[in-house]
Amino acid sequence: MHSLPKLPYPYDALEPFIDAKTMEIHYSKHHQTYVDKLNAALGKYPELFEKPLEYLLKNTSQVPEDIRQAVINHGGGHHNHSLFWTIMAPNAGGIPSGALSEEINQIWSSFEKFKEEFTNAALGIFGSGWAWLGIYQRKLKICTTKNQDSLLMEGKIPVLGLDMWEHAMYLLYQNRKNEYVSAWWNTVSWPEVERRYKEVK
Ligand code: MN
Repeated sequence: MHSLPKLPYPYDALEPFIDAKTMEIHYSKHHQTYVDKLNAALGKYPELFEKPLEYLLKNTSQVPEDIRQAVINHGGGHHNHSLFWTIMAPNAGGIPSGALSEEINQIWSSFEKFKEEFTNAALGIFGSGWAWLGIYQRKLKICTTKNQDSLLMEGKIPVLGLDMWEHAMYLLYQNRKNEYVSAWWNTVSWPEVERRYKEVK
C-alpha cells in the first residue's frame, strides 16, 4: 500500500508565500486522495504493490489497461506532490550553488534568465499541470506536464517541480498565477534540489 509521506514542516511554515489553509487542504485532502485512489486502482492487481511507483510511471505500458489512466493520474499525483513538499522549505529561496548553479549558468547564461524562462513555462500552462526542471539525456531541461502526468513517463527525471493547479494557489492568489509563482521562488529549497541533481548525475 502506498501512503501519504509526512509533511516535513507545519502547515504555516511557508507563510506568507503559501498560506496554512492551502497547505492543509492541499496535503491532507488533495494528496491523500491521490494516494487513496492509487491504492484502489492497484487493489485490482495487488502484485503491482511490489513495484516501486517510479517503475510504474516509467513503464506505464506494462500497467494493465483498465487501471493505466488511474495510475497515471493518481500515481503521478502522489509522486509529484511527494517531490513538491520536499523541494520547499521555510527560510529558503535564494540561489543554487555548486555544480547545479554552474550548469544553470552554462545553459541559461544566468540564474535570472533561468528563473524567467521557468516562470514563463509555468504561466504558459493552459489548464492544470506542472512546471519542471528535469534531467533529460544528462542535461537540465525546463519542461511542463499536463494534469498529474509525471516527467518519468517521458524518460526525464524531475529535480524541481511547481504545482500549477488552481488548488495550489486559489485561496490566497485566486487567478493571479504570476503572484503565486513569484512568491513560490521564496520557498524553493536549493539544497534539496542540489541533492536530487547530484543523485541523478
Ligand atoms: Mn496539487
